[in-house]
Order: sequence, then C-alpha cells, then structure tokens
Amino acid sequence: MESQSILIKNVTMPLSSTKRGSVLIENDLILEVGRDGRDHADVVIDGEGKVLIPGLVNTHTHLSMTLFRGIADDLPLGTWLEDYIWPVEAHLDGEHCYAGALLGALEMIRTGTTCCSDMYFFMDEIARALDESGLRGVICHGMIDTGIEEKRKNEIKETQRIIDKCHNTAEGRITVALGPHAPYTCSEELLRWSREKADQEGLQIHMHVSETKDEVQNVLESTQRRPFEYLDSLGLLGDDLLAAHGVWLSNDEISLIKERGVKLSHCPVSNMKLASGISPITELTRCDVCVSLGTDGAASNNNLDLFQEIKTATLLQKINQMDPTVLPARKVLEMATVDGARALGMENQIGTIEVGKKADLILVDMNAPHLTPPGNHMSHLVYSAGGSDVDTVICNGKILMQNKEILALDHVEVLSLAREAADDLLQRR
Ligand SMILES: [Zn+2]
Repeated sequence: MESQSILIKNVTMPLSSTKRGSVLIENDLILEVGRDGRDHADVVIDGEGKVLIPGLVNTHTHLSMTLFRGIADDLPLGTWLEDYIWPVEAHLDGEHCYAGALLGALEMIRTGTTCCSDMYFFMDEIARALDESGLRGVICHGMIDTGIEEKRKNEIKETQRIIDKCHNTAEGRITVALGPHAPYTCSEELLRWSREKADQEGLQIHMHVSETKDEVQNVLESTQRRPFEYLDSLGLLGDDLLAAHGVWLSNDEISLIKERGVKLSHCPVSNMKLASGISPITELTRCDVCVSLGTDGAASNNNLDLFQEIKTATLLQKINQMDPTVLPARKVLEMATVDGARALGMENQIGTIEVGKKADLILVDMNAPHLTPPGNHMSHLVYSAGGSDVDTVICNGKILMQNKEILALDHVEVLSLAREAADDLLQRR
C-alpha cells in the first residue's frame, strides 16, 4: 500500500501539551506533533482559526435506533419500552440495522465522533456500516436470556458468530466485546459465561447497570443484593467491564466500582429524558473512577451529538451539587476523549494527540458568532460549541469529512436508505 501523509498546520491544540503548531500523520498514525516549519505532505490542511482535538469517543450507543428517532417521546420508561420500542424491535432485520447504523455513522462523522461502543442486534450489519464509514468501533451483540436456557444458547451462539466474523476487522478499526444486556435481563449462568469468555479471550464486557430505581429494586428483591454487589458476587466486576448508566449507586457500590477498576459510560441526556435519575459523577470522578460519555440510542436522546452530552454532563452535576465549580471544562472534555479511550481499553491507541497514536482527530471551526471572541477555547468547546461546528474529521489517518463535506459516505444515499428502512419498519408495527 502506498503511504499517505497529512499535515495539519497553524493549528491550536487546547488539550495537548503542544498548544500550537502542526501535526503530521503518516498512514494511520500520528508521526509528529510540534512547531510549524515543515510544509510538505500529500495533503496539507491549514488549521488557522480552528482547533484540533482528539476525535470524540461515544461509549454507549445503539446506532440502529436512529431509525426510531422521534417515534415516542415524553413517556414513562415502561410504556416507552413496552408499547413503542419493543413492538418495533420485534420486526427488525439486518437490513434495517445496517441502514440505521449507516445513518448513525453519518451523524457521528458530522458531529466529530470517531469511535463508538455499540450494543444491539445483527451486529455484523453494524460492523459493515462502520467499516464503510471509516469510523472505529467496539461492537457487541446485546444478550438477553431472561433465564431461559434455549435463549441463552442462542445468544451465546450469536455472540460467537459475531466474534468470528467481525473481531479485529476493517484494518483493526472494529473489535468485538461481550454484551450481557443488564443484570435483570440475563441469568446468572449467562453472566458467569460472559466473565469466563472475557477472561479466556481478552474481550471487554459492555453492560447496562443501575439505570433506574426500579431496576435496583428488582435486583435487590431477586438476589438480596444491589446490582453492582450482585455482579461482584459473580466475579463480573473488573477493569474490562464498561457499565452504562450507573445512576443509582450506594456508597459501597462506588467503592466497589473503584476497587475493581470498573469503567462507566455516563449518559446524562438519556437519563434526563427518561427521568431515570442523576448519576453521582462528581463523587465518582473525585475518587478517580474512569467516567466516559455516551449518548445512548437516538430514541432516548434524540441525537448522537456528543457536544450536547459534554455540556449537559457538566451542567447537570453543577445543579445537582448546587456548586458551579464541579466537573470543570477540561475534565468533561477529557471524559469525551481520553477517558472514553480508557473506558474501551484503548488508551494506548486513541484519545490524545501524541506521536505513535492512531490519527483520530477532529478540527472545530471557531470562526462563528457563538465562538467569538476566540479567547478561551476550552470554554467554547464545552459551553458554546455544537457538533455542527466540526469542520474536519480524520479517523485511522483517513479524512472522512473536510470543510464540512462528507467524503466517506454518500450523504443523500444514506438519508434515503434510512428513510426507506424506517418506513418499512413502522409499517410492520
Ligand atoms: Zn442503552
């Protein structure tokens, strides 16, 4: 393969130790970060008036649920799931999932996310969409057995099929994790199997834990333990576990999470929209628990713009604590970048602008009324910018969007494919 180099020059890098200068990319890697001076590369991007930050990492998505965007809002979680989401999901096929994932990928490129951690069904179709879009992703088949042995066998078989077909594919951009859906939808046997499999094959585990008060109550009644204590009794907690939500936590559970090195995906917009509650992120980050950010599915958000998650996360903690100093701008930006990378066990590959790391980078255009005067970049990125300010997206050394023009996918085609898939799905309801 012919080598390809990209030089981004005259750029400000608020999250890096080199605050201003240039970045040279060769193939998939960052080759140099330093002062301006060099002028030659296959592609030269002038970063004047823009800031360069690591590509954002969205650690909890259900990409295909973009097809359900807007079909049911302002409803209690039970009604939302039972009357709207599950009846539609019952008719899903691989083509729907592919179309929805492609739409999600397009939206992520538009808004500066270069890596996601996705749990859903027909995951080989999600892998296909991620592969075509040029993005990076950790995918898992969401396993639900509700204590039924036959279901368990099928879920394990499907997980194995996805591992065999998709793990370490797309030039290494796609890896597979294990996805036991939640402590209340999986049997003890399935949870134990997930731990064993993770240990054997060095795979991550991605799971919903303690999203609602009702869930904690249910787990307490059936196991006499709170969700994280129950999972610990099965040996499930470890530094390879990414727990989504973690809203309702006791102090003992916070200690357990810290001791076991469990990583969290905080999804503030989804938690607020479904009125699930407020996760104690201030306490968790104070004791150095790794907390990353996720949008959750587009049915409960309703978009995949991680900039909205960044702003919401910090505002929600400030009002919850009645303290404007908590979760400052730098910390919440780290949650969306380097802590996201840590949450996926990928901190050696992505999450910062450093020599030797994968070239997953985004340029944000600061030449806009709401980002003027240019004084404090970190503040602008958190409190005033939105995904639509993202100008250029590079993932694995490939330019997926430049000057707000999507190069990786055909915008018109993806939208029409998604509209058709959503129509087809809703007609089957
Ligand atoms: Zn979820």
